[in-house]
Amino acid sequence: MKKILIINRGEIAIRVAKAINELGHISVGLWTDNEPEAAHLEYCQQWVHLPGKNNTETYLNQEKILEIIEQYNVDAVHPGYGFLAENGEFVEKLEKKKVIFIGPNAKAIELMGDKAVSKKMAEKAGVPTIPGSVGEVDSVKEAKDIAKKIGYPVLLKAVAGGGGKGMRACFSEDELEKNFEAVKREALSSFSNDGLLVEKYILNPHHIEVQVLGDKQGNIYHLYERECSVQRRHQKIIEEAPSPFIGDDQALRKAICETAIKLAREVNYDSAGTVEFIMDEDRSFYFLEMNTRIQVEHPITEEVTGVDLLVNMIKVALNEPIDFQKQDDISLHGHAIECRICAEDPVTMLPAPGKISGISFTFPQGIRFDHCLYAGQEITPSFDPMIGKLVAKGLHRSACLSKMRSALKGLKIEGLKNNIPLHQKILSEKQFVSGIYSTKYIEEVKPQESLENENIFDKVVNIIAGEVNL
Ligand code: ADP
Ligand code: ADP
Ligand code: MG
Repeated sequence: MKKILIINRGEIAIRVAKAINELGHISVGLWTDNEPEAAHLEYCQQWVHLPGKNNTETYLNQEKILEIIEQYNVDAVHPGYGFLAENGEFVEKLEKKKVIFIGPNAKAIELMGDKAVSKKMAEKAGVPTIPGSVGEVDSVKEAKDIAKKIGYPVLLKAVAGGGGKGMRACFSEDELEKNFEAVKREALSSFSNDGLLVEKYILNPHHIEVQVLGDKQGNIYHLYERECSVQRRHQKIIEEAPSPFIGDDQALRKAICETAIKLAREVNYDSAGTVEFIMDEDRSFYFLEMNTRIQVEHPITEEVTGVDLLVNMIKVALNEPIDFQKQDDISLHGHAIECRICAEDPVTMLPAPGKISGISFTFPQGIRFDHCLYAGQEITPSFDPMIGKLVAKGLHRSACLSKMRSALKGLKIEGLKNNIPLHQKILSEKQFVSGIYSTKYIEEVKPQESLENENIFDKVVNIIAGEVNL
């Protein structure tokens, strides 16, 4: 029996605790002064106070977390996503103390954590990369020379970026010149690293990613792909597995999955991870980045493969036998979709913190809702606005869509602005329903606009109703 500390909060802390408990280990949860009533603790067998005023003093505070590990004789640590999940330095400190990190080795994290370095690794492994600079560009002149060669539009991208931040598309030399220093400054203030890449900005691409799982014996498996092309501000809001764009093209599916394994092998990957790709309209695909952690949208892969990713991620780290022995043991069944429920305005899609006055759900059969919500909870700007993940599964895509529509109708969050109305619009919108949509979907189809019009209509009706005293 191992004592496992979860250095995270919210829905992912619950997801991790469930897996630890199922495996018969001891789950230890943290609570902070910011969230004294943290609901994830209900799933943890032991609770530890992590003092501090903000995330820098708590979930990002390596020294304080290391002290807790020592004081409570912790055997292993699960980072969840965000915070210290992709921090190689922290993993090295754990390795020195002989504490198990439930994630990949520090070297793999370091190699994949920098987009310029990971691009070089991909090239070394023979994995196609997006045309552009091989490493960081040092000057605006170098960026302009590369852009001239590959052609506009180009994308300026922070090598240390994440969460969709630190990226700007430039459609002309003028724009590139204007944006270069600004993106550099933003990258420095957000990621403490002002390194930039310049690459071809691909128009109307698909975001398709492959889930991988490596063990400590050098075996690496893939668990097929997810499509995450419904995005706002380069951040995902709806994900599906399998990818509707790949569809029945089994040769393409095999090619992208095997390419992901090739890269994972190059960095001796030994945990759960995701290799992200951009797929062009002509179906050629290029390496985007690797996320060396469990991802937000992992549940849809669990739904279509039947593999519990958290359980197997923990087993791999503890050197216990996993649930399958060979690639052929993993197969796809049906279709799954995830809607990220966010505390944000459904029209502007900007964060909208507030208090949940009531929450209830009446779901159709088979719905999964990963969350950590309760009535009376204050959603603060201290954390990501993503507050829950609604996951539906069906025998095929249209059955899955129908289940998701019913689930969205049954999910009621009172008192807090949220994006459920936007999801409802998208799930009934013609182009999304047809399954043919790119990362430009929100920008081009603008499903939020019809919501805005409905709001205006409602307001007018209310004003008239008030005036004529109906
Ligand atoms: P992050 O680390 O922030 O997740 P990614 O490199 O994974 O950054 O990119 C996030 C999203 O930005 C992609 O899913 C895609 O929509 C868009 N994007 C990134 N690079 C390109 C590109 N070269 N061309 C077009 N879109 C891109
Ligand atoms: P995923 O890649 O798992 O689909 P996201 O890209 O939205 O999901 O990131 C997962 C979480 O990690 C989010 O809470 C996001 O804000 C956070 N995150 C990811 N990369 C970074 C980064 N470089 N800096 C800060 N937060 C990040
Ligand atoms: Mg990404």
